[in-house]
Amino acid sequence: MSSIYEKYGLKQVINASGRMTILGVSTPSADVVDTVKYGLNHYFEMKDLVNKTGAYIAGLLQVENAVVVSCASAGIAQCVAAVIVKDNDWLLDNLHAAPLSVPHDIVVPKGHNVNFGAPVGSMVTLGGGNLIEAGYSNECSAEQLAAAITPQTAAILYVKSHHCVQKSHLSVEQAAIVARKHGVPLIVDAAAEEDLQCYYRYGADLVIYSGAKAIEGPTSGLVVGKHQYVEWVKRQSNGIGRAMKVGKESILGLTQAIENYLTLEKTSGAQMVEKMMPFIENLNTLNGVTARVVWDAAGRDIARTEIHFDELIVNQRTGDLVQALKKGTIAIYFRGYKANEGIIEADVRSVSADQLHTIFTAIQSLLNGAKNA
Ligand SMILES: *Cc1c(COP(=O)(O)O)cnc(C)c1O
Repeated sequence: MSSIYEKYGLKQVINASGRMTILGVSTPSADVVDTVKYGLNHYFEMKDLVNKTGAYIAGLLQVENAVVVSCASAGIAQCVAAVIVKDNDWLLDNLHAAPLSVPHDIVVPKGHNVNFGAPVGSMVTLGGGNLIEAGYSNECSAEQLAAAITPQTAAILYVKSHHCVQKSHLSVEQAAIVARKHGVPLIVDAAAEEDLQCYYRYGADLVIYSGAKAIEGPTSGLVVGKHQYVEWVKRQSNGIGRAMKVGKESILGLTQAIENYLTLEKTSGAQMVEKMMPFIENLNTLNGVTARVVWDAAGRDIARTEIHFDELIVNQRTGDLVQALKKGTIAIYFRGYKANEGIIEADVRSVSADQLHTIFTAIQSLLNGAKNA
């Protein structure tokens, strides 16, 4: 395998940052890889494949309908297009050809108008929507969401993510009540979330997941929801969806990954803690370094190692350390959201015990270097 790295002169990566698109997100299990290969090696009646895998996934998740798309971003764009275009054949062909006369405002709580690697708003625009912010950057109640709804509203878009402002923003359940009351559909972007059923149960009409994040499938996305809405999303494969075409290999690979995700036992937070304990103990022997277990801020069962550098003792800025670790022979990536506070986090889900030791050694040598300087 290292030959691919050699052939193209690529750097090996240790991914202690979690499911990051910039590093290739995740590494699917062997049977998902086999399924992808099977998909690549065979022909299918594609419409049949889309419908039957969708029905299979819907059965697994106990939702009305489902469809595999090329990624969650494509899911957002196609869901927006779906609620605007619906069954209209002319609009399917001409979504961006003329100003829209049908409702096309997409109401988003202001604190959800985030950049997840690309702006949510760009996906809304791709789908023909006009993004309308509800509430304020630090506050959006059910009433504030409702106040932004007009006859031009095509849907509410709720982004469930650690990227969003959590403080004083309404819940998915509350957004669903507002949507019902005003007769507009609720779309939930739950791209990186782990629960594939709850948002649908809370009353969302369409819920979008990223295939390679929590589910650890191939690059793909999943849209689940009410029957008619998902059918409208499927129609977009003859509209804007064609620019986001999903292959047979991804459809089959994601379907298998979802089945595994539901049936195989997941690594628990407690198991993550067990794996990271020797790493934490090693780090705590270093001068100026304090390491401890922290739990996911969004409440998921994920434990991470928080590493705090006393910048006066280690005599370098944490941000510089993070950069230096990326630039080594093996590129080591951490979660660096709090580097300006002297804190980084290691997500150990994709890191082996050996690799944790390699990380420790790399940190140790960078700090030693600083002390001798
Ligand atoms: C990752 C992410 C996306 C995009 O998912 P892709 O499958 O990479 O397109 C969208 N929204 C949120 C909140 C995300 O975290």
